[in-house]
Amino acid sequence: MEKHVLLVDDEVPILKMMTRAFTRAGYEVETAESAEDAMELIKTYKYMVFFLDLNLPGMNGIDLCRQIRKDNPLTILYAVTGFATTFEVFDCRQAGFEDYFTKPVELKKLLEAAEQAFQKLARWKREEESFNLKDVH
Ligand SMILES: [Mg+2]
Repeated sequence: MEKHVLLVDDEVPILKMMTRAFTRAGYEVETAESAEDAMELIKTYKYMVFFLDLNLPGMNGIDLCRQIRKDNPLTILYAVTGFATTFEVFDCRQAGFEDYFTKPVELKKLLEAAEQAFQKLARWKREEESFNLKDVH
């Protein structure tokens, strides 16, 4: 599976730092500085793993997550936020986020999360394929 990630944050230095780390780790990285730009990008490529800043100008990260999950429930999204209250974690889970990370971001943790996400997607794909094979034979 191609390892594409879409990173969304309105703070360009954060995007740059994350892009560098993900690229070094072998990921194909696309970035957007707003939810609206991210919505445009997902029209052109079927991203499966996302890291979304919650506090964005215009549409926020929670609503963006809801939108992405509505169109494809198999996607795996992580929230990246300045601080997280229990209330915010509740909202994140309800919107469909897998997990959340607080800023300043620990790149190692984000990379681990991405790795786990792609492992999960690969397993779902394998299980689907084995199911299809059973169907045929
Ligand atoms: Mg922000």
